[in-house]
Amino acid sequence: MKVTEHIERAKGKTLFSLEVLPPIKGQDINSIYKTIEGVLEYEPAFIDVTYHREEHVYKNQSNGLLKRLSVRKRPGTVGISAAILNKYKIDPIPHIICGGFSKEETENALIDLNFLGVDNVLVLRGDAMRSEKAFVPHPHGHPYAIDLLKQVIDMNEGRYLDEDLLNPFPSNFCAGVAGYPEKHYEASNLKTDIRFLKKKVDAGAEYVVTQMFFDNSKYFKFVDLCRAHGITVPIIPGIKPLATSKHLVSLPQMFFIDIPEILADEVASCKSREAVYDLGIEWCIEQCKELIAHEVPVLHFYTMSRVKNIRKIAEAVF
Ligand code: FAD
Repeated sequence: MKVTEHIERAKGKTLFSLEVLPPIKGQDINSIYKTIEGVLEYEPAFIDVTYHREEHVYKNQSNGLLKRLSVRKRPGTVGISAAILNKYKIDPIPHIICGGFSKEETENALIDLNFLGVDNVLVLRGDAMRSEKAFVPHPHGHPYAIDLLKQVIDMNEGRYLDEDLLNPFPSNFCAGVAGYPEKHYEASNLKTDIRFLKKKVDAGAEYVVTQMFFDNSKYFKFVDLCRAHGITVPIIPGIKPLATSKHLVSLPQMFFIDIPEILADEVASCKSREAVYDLGIEWCIEQCKELIAHEVPVLHFYTMSRVKNIRKIAEAVF
């Protein structure tokens, strides 16, 4: 079922959903099952599965020279999506990204997903590779999420890359896109970023999932600005509980978000790791309660494949 149908059927009740990461290459799928089963009783409406592009790694050779290899460290998004659908009958939302993919590779992945019965995709640009300063599109791929989205919408309308196909079958994906309450790090300002988001919605995106935030007022302001710019689709808040004091540095570095001063001060006054962990849960419960009171369609949790804290939060708010 499509994300939009889940939201319609819930009739204003806030749904629960989560995001999982494919395991590191070489690990089995049981870590994903463990993550999902840790929160299964809260009936996730859907489960996002992230996509991880290849990275360049350098390996020493016997001749003393370094060899550059292209390695995808967390493959398996399509397979995990199919496994989730098959095992739990929960809608998986595979992420699809521009980075590292030609249009043809994307088309083939979409055909696989369509055949597997996957109804949703989250359409993203992806970040630059670690070895690159800025995002470089694949020479036969897409520079922005909107271009990838247009390919999905084309397929939904029966338009494949090969225009000579006879009676091509239209897919029926519900496509979501990303939004940034604290703006995307490359955007010159929040309004410009929202104008690009509006273009993604006009091109056919049916819902938005936000980057994580720790200050609900930023999400509320973002939703108001989106509505003022004519974005009417559901805007699903992405939530992550802070779990360690290291998150004070790593989350802003990785996701270009602020940690509110009060939260940072409270973390600083914690006497143990357990106290920080519990504080993160308490803060998140308060965030979630306020978001539910504002009738958000879904609370979407970034798990990083760990759900002990998310279980406690779900227990308190659902
Ligand atoms: P875009 O919408 O293409 O925007 C990128 C930047 O370009 C923005 O600054 C935007 O304002 C600007 N822009 C957009 N269109 C134009 C245009 N036409 N001209 C000029 N500027 C433009 N990354 C992964 O690799 N794998 C994942 O699974 C993944 N999941 C994510 C899930 C969520 C919910 C979120 C919020 C992010 C996720 N990311 C993931 C990270 C994401 O790929 C990065 O944030 C990436 O840098 C931007 O992706 P986007 O889809 O928002 O890009």
